[in-house]
Amino acid sequence: MSWYGDGLNFSCISGCTKCCERPGSVYVSEEEMVRIANHLKISIDEFKSKYTRQMDNSITLATTDKGCVFVETGKGCSIYPVRPKQCSTYPFWSQIVADRSRWIQHKEDFCPGIETGNKVDAFVIERAIKESDDIFGVSNNERKIGSQRTIANSQIAHI
Ligand code: SF4
Repeated sequence: MSWYGDGLNFSCISGCTKCCERPGSVYVSEEEMVRIANHLKISIDEFKSKYTRQMDNSITLATTDKGCVFVETGKGCSIYPVRPKQCSTYPFWSQIVADRSRWIQHKEDFCPGIETGNKVDAFVIERAIKESDDIFGVSNNERKIGSQRTIANSQIAHI
């Protein structure tokens, strides 16, 4: 059984936008872009030109000097119901939950919601890890050792 076999406490803190205001990148799939464009009632072409940028072979959400283009300081994510999977799986990313000390360290450094609120079941955590690994391209081997790659490369958002 993993160290979080009994689940982990996490709740996003109302009004906190710490993770969305960090420098980094939120990857978006074609399907996610269509969903967000529909939510905003704009065309997919308009969405791409206004709210995304090309990064190597991937597309990410655009950023401003405040972080994610969709963050509203003091309020949160303006597209919360349709936010990308990268955001909804946070903070259950393999490098963050690799062991208890990294989990606690992440709370201290980045996310005050860690170790607060209701318990999230281990199977929900496992599913989020798998989904975020797929986004970041973390292999099973990297996952075992807890990849550091995505910490530097990714922006994180509300769950
Ligand atoms: S996920 Fe954590 S850092 Fe991000 S807004 Fe919620 S409490 Fe703040």
